[in-house]
Amino acid sequence: MSVILGKEKDTDVVVRFIKEGEISVRGKSLLFPIRNTGNKPLDYRWTIADALETVKSLKVKSVFFKKPGFISKKDWYRFFYEGILLAEYSFDEFKTSKEGIDIYFDGEENEYSRIAELYADSTNFTRNLVNTPPNIATPEYLAKTAEEISKKNGYEIKIFDKKDIERLGMNAFLAVNWGSEKEPYFVHMKYSPENPKGRIVLVGKALTFDSGGLSLKSSEGMMTMKIDKSGACAVLGVFKNLKELGSDYEVHGIFAATENMPDGKAVRPGDIVKSYSGKTIEILNTDAEGRLTLADALAYACEFEPDYLIDMATLTGAAVVALGEFTAALFSNDDALANGIIRSSQFAAERFWRMPLNDPFIYEKLKTYDADMKNTSLDRWGGAIYGALFLKEFVKDGIKWAHIDLAGPVFNTKRWAYNPVGATGFGVRTMLRFITGR
Ligand SMILES: [Zn+2]
Repeated sequence: MSVILGKEKDTDVVVRFIKEGEISVRGKSLLFPIRNTGNKPLDYRWTIADALETVKSLKVKSVFFKKPGFISKKDWYRFFYEGILLAEYSFDEFKTSKEGIDIYFDGEENEYSRIAELYADSTNFTRNLVNTPPNIATPEYLAKTAEEISKKNGYEIKIFDKKDIERLGMNAFLAVNWGSEKEPYFVHMKYSPENPKGRIVLVGKALTFDSGGLSLKSSEGMMTMKIDKSGACAVLGVFKNLKELGSDYEVHGIFAATENMPDGKAVRPGDIVKSYSGKTIEILNTDAEGRLTLADALAYACEFEPDYLIDMATLTGAAVVALGEFTAALFSNDDALANGIIRSSQFAAERFWRMPLNDPFIYEKLKTYDADMKNTSLDRWGGAIYGALFLKEFVKDGIKWAHIDLAGPVFNTKRWAYNPVGATGFGVRTMLRFITGR
């Protein structure tokens, strides 16, 4: 499927949006009521996605979406047009037969349509990456993807291979890689505008497959573990169109890519490693591995003295238990940063909820008798907060930092709103809005 901008066409169905009320077909017009939950960016995108589903169920070949007079031009493109571009996505890379209907959208190319296309393109690019299976999307594949994006946009890029990572002493990251046949890669991209007004560093978790290691997951728990690279894929999605959207900030994108596998060489529960920051970690659960890779990535990121440091990670199942599968858990040591992210997320129609980061009792659980800290609390309670407090140990004092635990909303087993089955590309649009303001 693709979406074509233009004047009214002779299609099988014409969708006309109406205010809340009835849904009906008049001639070949489908009158479709607009949702009203009180959040326009979400309601408009959701409405057109549902309209598309309804049209598909009519088994027609083509459809035209007509702009109603009561919707502003800006809203029509930024929300309805972006919504249809997000909703028509499907991951058919590995399908031998592809299907779809012709979609025509009332309008012309303009600045708003271009921005909507860039937002959707970044999101759909991330969806493709996350959906790509772990036999193909390896750490090397992610590094190569970063290289291609950087080359195309003129970003600076550094790619550290295993030898470099050993030399740097990123031993927490390396420990996760011990059991894997695949080489780890540490990637650092940089976008530099003229006269930047500050520096934002994005860090993404990049586990291309997470078996749990020796603390092995159940077979069911492993089925979707290609999604454990979603944070890094979101960073790559942002960088794909960052240059064209433009930002006043210098923006860095960093990720530490590896698999987590069980093996004779794999890290054992009880092993102690010295992280890049110098702090020691007792690894008691090898399935709490994302925080080990992020510990070194965050400590490295702090060396660049960012004004804002933001990490995105599928870090804990506990975040999904706490907030459900549609909402990301947001932790921050800075109110202005947290509020900025939440405001951006409302425009982008992604759901975030701020969680506590100042829990002195959960913090006590980090302690262990034989190292500076342990990587798991050994109980089930407050797991998302524990994960955030663990990461905070590797963020330099004074740096404004936000941790986004997006384990819930990055992946679907069922379509909802403008999100298809599979990867949603969560985080990309909120970060683009936060960084570029477009
Ligand atoms: Zn894990």
